Amino acid sequence: MSEAETIHVDGVWRGAASGARREVLDPADAGTLAVVAEGGADDADAAVAAARRAFDSGPWPRTPVGERAALLRVVADLLQRDRETLALVESRDTGKTLEEGRVDVDDVTDAFQYFAGLVVEDDGGRVVDTGSADVRSTVVHEPVGVCALITPWNYPLLQAGWKIAPALAAGNTFVIKPSEITPLSTVHLMRLLVEAGLPAGVGNLVTGAGEPVGARLAAHPAVDLVSFTGGLASGTKVMAAAAPSVKKVALELGGKNPNVVFADACATEEGFDTAVDQALNAAFIHSGQVCSAGSRLIIEEPLRERFVAELARRADRIRLGRGTEPGVECGPLVSAQQLARTEAYVASALAEGASLRSGGARPAPGGTRPATGYFYAPTVLDCCHRQMRVIREEIFGPVLTVETFRTEDEAVALANDTEYGLAGAVWTGDASRARRVAGRLRHGTVWINDYHPYLPQAEWGGFGKSGIGRELGPGGLQEYRETKHVYRNLAPRPVRWFAG
Ligand code: NAD
Repeated sequence: MSEAETIHVDGVWRGAASGARREVLDPADAGTLAVVAEGGADDADAAVAAARRAFDSGPWPRTPVGERAALLRVVADLLQRDRETLALVESRDTGKTLEEGRVDVDDVTDAFQYFAGLVVEDDGGRVVDTGSADVRSTVVHEPVGVCALITPWNYPLLQAGWKIAPALAAGNTFVIKPSEITPLSTVHLMRLLVEAGLPAGVGNLVTGAGEPVGARLAAHPAVDLVSFTGGLASGTKVMAAAAPSVKKVALELGGKNPNVVFADACATEEGFDTAVDQALNAAFIHSGQVCSAGSRLIIEEPLRERFVAELARRADRIRLGRGTEPGVECGPLVSAQQLARTEAYVASALAEGASLRSGGARPAPGGTRPATGYFYAPTVLDCCHRQMRVIREEIFGPVLTVETFRTEDEAVALANDTEYGLAGAVWTGDASRARRVAGRLRHGTVWINDYHPYLPQAEWGGFGKSGIGRELGPGGLQEYRETKHVYRNLAPRPVRWFAG
């Protein structure tokens, strides 16, 4: 396989039908990291045709579930075998630190293991009690068919795994299209699937841009399901493109996630230190390019000054540099576009009256921070309010905004005042308040006295414009299954509805 043969269709690696290529850039210095095939609509069509054939007449959908699970476990082993290589690929491609890359490899390994176990123990079927001895009624689950899987640039490997593992476990075939900005770990994952013995045509990969490749997959009449993770604007286009063919649609979109801190969480020095530390982690891990980033700190007024001062002090000390270098805590943003977007949002907040407590600029170049890299300093914006764009819109950069409240009702109202609803946290030392507030938050994941953990066993997804459907957990497997009711009459006789 040459460097630009990154399209995998029907078991064959090849370049784009048009011969087009794309340079993948290193966000730490804007140099060329790799050259990949720039697929087009015809490559998408070929991949869908292969997946369709493999579903309609290939062995995979009819392979016993135990054998499908066994293949998933082999993939999990291969992921661990290649852990360091994959972590490095992910770190160089996305800019995240090597350690974050390792965590991603471990998490995606867990997802393959989890769905391998789940699909065996839960075939989803059930016998329905009809109350009649003459009827046998069962509900069974079957694969949906050909799945188009479209992933973003912030967690390319993880998002690919969250979709591929349940899709394969359920017996589907797929075409995956990774982000054109960060396709490299998905290419590696595809190689591992081939090495694990996935039959030709079951898993197909087309590298290329959202338009035309992703758009073609979303609209394609031979695709049965499109599972998309990405931004709201692209997600709505995917939904509209999918509508004429009435395919199943799963969307994991953005978030504007509240991190609500009550003063009673910080009653002790230890509590204060933990809440500040986790607020920092919530907002700045992977330079804030996380769909569930706790980018809105909503803090009880009397605690604000002390908390924000300490937060800003620690934000200033975050070590920025090339993600592969030891000691670096935050890498660059993924692209020049993401950097420009972050700068524009910070400028808009300052124009609207926010107060800058840390960051607010590109850091000086030096060390492992070349001037050409897309670095931006972790930024804390105080004195923010609900009308500001930085409060309402997803920035996807290292920017933390601060709002304050005086009552529990006000805290909940602020936290829910978003068109999104992906995730949020509440920090409090009062257990009944924790339960009350968690119950009132309109978000798909709520953390109490923690931020960011997710589990393969628990569904992940959003309320509101954060999406449709769930990944992970039993619900994540169910996304990739059709439900069929089989009703068998053991004593058929005429119904005489019509006199005849
Ligand atoms: P994006 O929407 O620009 O791109 C996502 C993917 O969609 C890419 O593969 C892209 O090529 C493709 N795409 C773009 N336009 C398309 C179209 N018209 N039709 C089909 N496909 C198209 O998003 P991004 O900038 O890569 O990722 C960042 C976004 O992803 C953020 O909004 C973030 O919140 C979201 N995200 C959400 C989750 C979640 O679990 N909810 C996880 C990670 C990222």
